[in-house]
Amino acid sequence: MKRVLTNDARAFKDEMVEGFLAAYGRYVRRVPDASGVMAVGAPRRGKVSVLIGGGSGHYPAFAGTVGQGLADGAVIGDIFTSPSAEQVYRCTKALDGGAGVLLSYGNYSGDVMNFDMAQARCRDEGMDVRTVIVTDDVASAPKGREEERRGVAGDLYVFKVAGAAAARGDDMDGVEEAAQRANAVTRSIGIAFAGCTLPGQTEPLFTVEPGKMEVGMGVHGEPGIRTADLLPARGIAELLVDTLLEDAPEGAGSRAAVMLNGLGSTKYEELFVLFSDVNRLLGERGVEVHEPLVGELVTSLDMAGCSLTLMWLDGDLQELHDAPAATPAFSRGSLELPQETGETVLAAPTSSAAATDAGGDLSESGAVALDALERALGAVQDAEQELGRLDAAAGDGDHGAGMVRGMGAAVEAARGGGGSAGQVLARAGMAFSGAAGGASGALYGAWISAIGQSLGDDEKPDAPAVHRALDSSLATLRETGKAEPGDKTMIDTLDPFVRSFGEAAAGGASPGEAWQRALPDAERGADSTAGMISTRGRASKLGERSRGHKDPGAVSMLYVLRAAGDALPKK
Ligand code: ADP
Ligand code: MG
Repeated sequence: MKRVLTNDARAFKDEMVEGFLAAYGRYVRRVPDASGVMAVGAPRRGKVSVLIGGGSGHYPAFAGTVGQGLADGAVIGDIFTSPSAEQVYRCTKALDGGAGVLLSYGNYSGDVMNFDMAQARCRDEGMDVRTVIVTDDVASAPKGREEERRGVAGDLYVFKVAGAAAARGDDMDGVEEAAQRANAVTRSIGIAFAGCTLPGQTEPLFTVEPGKMEVGMGVHGEPGIRTADLLPARGIAELLVDTLLEDAPEGAGSRAAVMLNGLGSTKYEELFVLFSDVNRLLGERGVEVHEPLVGELVTSLDMAGCSLTLMWLDGDLQELHDAPAATPAFSRGSLELPQETGETVLAAPTSSAAATDAGGDLSESGAVALDALERALGAVQDAEQELGRLDAAAGDGDHGAGMVRGMGAAVEAARGGGGSAGQVLARAGMAFSGAAGGASGALYGAWISAIGQSLGDDEKPDAPAVHRALDSSLATLRETGKAEPGDKTMIDTLDPFVRSFGEAAAGGASPGEAWQRALPDAERGADSTAGMISTRGRASKLGERSRGHKDPGAVSMLYVLRAAGDALPKK
C-alpha cells in the first residue's frame, strides 16, 4: 500500500498550485480566472509568448519551468489529464502581448484536441496562435512515423529553445521554426521499474514484476512496449544510448545536449551512477556531450525509472539551448527577475457556457434533459472505479474520475439556467469539457453540445429529429477525435446505437422506444472493443497489448446511454 500526502484527493491539483505559487511567487503568478500560471512580467508587448502545459503529476513539468527565458506560461490540467479547451483558451488570451502565442506540449490525443480547440477559438478572434507538438519518445512509434510519437522528457528541450527564441526577440515564424527544429532532433527513451500511485489511491496504477523492467514506458504509466530482465546500471546505459543512437535523426551532428531524467523515485545518486556509464558510452560512440542535465525534469508522480534524452545541436540550437533562463526548477546563467507584472493586450475572455443560457425556467423538454444528465451522473459515479481500472489497463487510469468531474459540471450547468432540452444540453456539454479535460472531456463535451445544438428549441422532438441530433453529434465526435468504428473508442458503442435508433425511428417508434431498442446494439458494440487493438488515444501506442480489455470510453458511453434512456418517456 502506498501513501500520497493529500487533504482531499479531488482538491489535490488546486492545493498543489496554491502551494507552488506561495513558494515561487517571485517567478510566477496565477493566470486570472484560469488553471494556469504565467511568468512575472509576462506578457511583454510585442514579444511572442510560449504557453506550455498538460496534465499535472510531472513536476517540474510544466509549471516549474515557467519564467524568464523559458515558457511564459503553463496551463495546468488535473493529474495525468489534459487541461480543458476553456482553460487553454483563457491562458492563451492572458499571455498574448500582441505578437502571438506559441502552444507547445507533448503529443497526447487529449491535449491535442483541447489545445486545438482553444487555438481555433483564439484564431477566430484574430490572434496569431501556432502549435508545435513534441514527439520525442522513440518507443511509441517506429522510425518513419515520428509525428505519431508521444512527448516525454524532450519537452523541456523544445520548450527551452522556443522560450529562448522568443526571449531574444524572434517573431512568431522564427519561434515556431526554432521549436520545430528542436523537436526534429530530439529523441528520448524511458524505462520503469515500478508503478506510480495517483492521489487518493492506495494501489499503484500498474506494477512491474520484481527483477523486470518495462522498456518504453510512457510517463502516464502506459505500459511499456516490452518487458525485459532488469539489468545493472551499465546494461541499462547501453540499452538507452544504443536505442537513441540507432534512431538518430538524419544529418545529426556529433554534439548533443544530454538529459538523464528521473521519473519520480529514482535517487539522484543512482542517476549519477547511470550517467557515468551513459557519458562514457556516448564518448566512445563519438557523441560530444554538451551541458548535460541529470535530475528530475519530467516526472510521473512516484514512478521508479528514468529516461535518456538527446537533442543534437547545430550552432543556432546550441545558442538557444545555452541562453540564460530563470524559473522555479530550472535556471541557467544569471538573469534579473522583473518586478512589474505584464500587460495583456486583449480583453479578458468571456465564458462561452453563459452564452447559451436562455434564462427563465426549464421547459418540459429541458427538465427531461436535466433528468437524463442526473441519471448519467449517477451511473458514472457508480462505475467510477470500474472505468478507472479499465483505463489503467492500457491508458492512464483517469477515465472514471474524468467522467464524474465532467458529468458533475454538466448537471450543475443544466440546473443553473432554463430553456429547452437543446439549450440545456448545449451548455451542459461546454461545462463538461471545461471541467473534465482529457480526451474524453473534449469528446463528450463536443458530443453533448452538438446534440443540444441540433435539437435547438424544439420542445417535442420526434424520433426522426432525435435521430438527426444523434447522427450529427456522432459526426462531430468523429470529426473531433478523427476516430472511426473499429478504432476501440466510445464510437464503437455510439455508432451501432445511432444506426439502430435510426431504424427504429423510421419504423415509427417513439424516441423512448427507439432508444430502448437501440441499447442492445450499444452493449454489443461496447463488448466488441475487448477484441480490438487500440489505434486512437493513449492506448494506441500499445498495439497488440491493448487487446483483451474493453475500452473505457466505450463502456462509459454505454452507461451514459442506458441512464439517459431511463429519463425518456417510454411511449
Ligand atoms: P485520456 O485518454 O485523455 O486519459 P480518458 O481516459 O478520460 O482520456 O478517456 C479515454 C477514452 O476516450 C478512450 O477509452 C476512448 O474511448 C476515448 N478516446 C480517446 N481518444 C479518442 C479519439 N481520438 N476518438 C474517439 N474517442 C477517443
Ligand atoms: Mg485516461
